Amino acid sequence: MPEVIVVGAGISGLVAAWRLQQQDVDVVVLEAADRPGGRIHSVEVNGCTVEVGANFITDAYRIIPGLAHEVGAELRPVSDNSGIVVGGRLHSFTASKPFTAFGSGLMPWSAMLSLVPGLGRFAALRRHRGTVDPLDWVDLDEVSAFSWARSLGLRTLFERSWRPAYHGFYFQDAAITSAAGVAAMAAHGLRQKTLTIVGGLSTLTDALAARLDVRLREPVVRIEECATGVAVHTASGVHRAPMVIVAVPGTVLPGIMELDPVQRAVADVPYSTGLLVALGVNRYLHPDELGGAYGVLFEPGGSDLAALAVASRAGHAFGDRDVVTCMFTAEAARALDATPTEEILQAARRHLLTWAPSLADALIDDPASCLVQSIPHAMPMSPPGRLARIAALREEELGSRILFAGDSVAWPWTDSAAFAGVRAAEMLLVRRA
Ligand SMILES: Cc1cc2nc3c(=O)[nH]c(=O)nc-3n(C[C@H](O)[C@H](O)[C@H](O)COP(=O)(O)OP(=O)(O)OC[C@H]3O[C@@H](n4cnc5c(N)ncnc54)[C@H](O)[C@@H]3O)c2cc1C
Repeated sequence: MPEVIVVGAGISGLVAAWRLQQQDVDVVVLEAADRPGGRIHSVEVNGCTVEVGANFITDAYRIIPGLAHEVGAELRPVSDNSGIVVGGRLHSFTASKPFTAFGSGLMPWSAMLSLVPGLGRFAALRRHRGTVDPLDWVDLDEVSAFSWARSLGLRTLFERSWRPAYHGFYFQDAAITSAAGVAAMAAHGLRQKTLTIVGGLSTLTDALAARLDVRLREPVVRIEECATGVAVHTASGVHRAPMVIVAVPGTVLPGIMELDPVQRAVADVPYSTGLLVALGVNRYLHPDELGGAYGVLFEPGGSDLAALAVASRAGHAFGDRDVVTCMFTAEAARALDATPTEEILQAARRHLLTWAPSLADALIDDPASCLVQSIPHAMPMSPPGRLARIAALREEELGSRILFAGDSVAWPWTDSAAFAGVRAAEMLLVRRA
């Protein structure tokens, strides 16, 4: 019998198990799928590495870069160019030089004066708070992001940068998100460097899984507390351990365990919907196509697209071919649900050519050079009030044998999901001591 069972081999469960194993705790990870990584998933399309889950990390992340270092996964910066579409126009700028956003027309020069004191107020607010623990921002949880940004004098920054970023990254509208969520995203800073991992982000989760006892194709169907610990039922039998960390998306939780009202309130978190279409290109994109950007983010409401990403600009293209990944908005993803693959590919090509018409002769028609990936539960949303529920769960977990990790208790980015794993592991280590 292991000391701890971790359910789910996404980044959160893997990090929890890794931290426990580093402290000599005997830990087993049970994973439903035939691969580790969950929503970190790098695949090969058209001779390129393509991310069909999380796309990038940044040097402002607190946990993932160190973890990559620990397991020998090499970090690499992506192209420094970014693009944001607002008002029907693509504005490209240099990410490490945020002031180039003024020259590109993304930010009006007239906003500059209000930006300085507004950013000063934000800097003061962000002091002593991090980007991984949602509860750092609990005092902003009941406020709407829009009115909060306006109160700081940062309405233009919100509309022209934070809102398209929140939409492009997480397929959701910052206007219906609590101020806490948008503030935590913005707290990564204006000058963060976007990174990837050589070989794709799966290199990290594969490397972690290789160091752990991960049992693949072991879907957990039931978790229940008993007198001596916790019983975890899978098709192959019952696994028992004194403690269990459950690191699966919130949507899975009601199907595998009896939830008390506090747990149910946390598991109820709504998720955005993802539809990613990787389109093969028969050459590298030229530097002037899509403004030279690695990623293009779209404001909500203006397009069926939430984001675009270019493989060659992440160093993920080899030979002479490229891939552009089109990420649809949550609404478009739902509308295209059950649409035949060929029609989804056509829709993606049509949208991409709106922004890069010169690719008309370069897009490869062969479906074998493309990929359609639907992710019904992509990332957790944070409407006002969510964090109070997570805080209540933390209180309850002080006396529980079953701890939640995963992004049902985190922000919608890998680093925060990883933090949830670290936190659960640390709670167990304290109890063990
Ligand atoms: C399209 C997309 C783009 C994204 N882009 C970014 C980005 O650019 N940067 C970033 O930082 N983050 C990004 N994210 C968010 C990031 O991917 C997630 O926050 C993070 O991967 C969640 O990790 P997790 O471990 O909580 O969950 P998951 O990765 O979902 O892991 C949960 C695991 O549990 C397993 N499981 C489920 N049910 C069971 C069961 N019954 N028994 C056993 N195992 C089970 C699943 O198979 C899965 O492996 C993106 C997400 C998506 C979907």
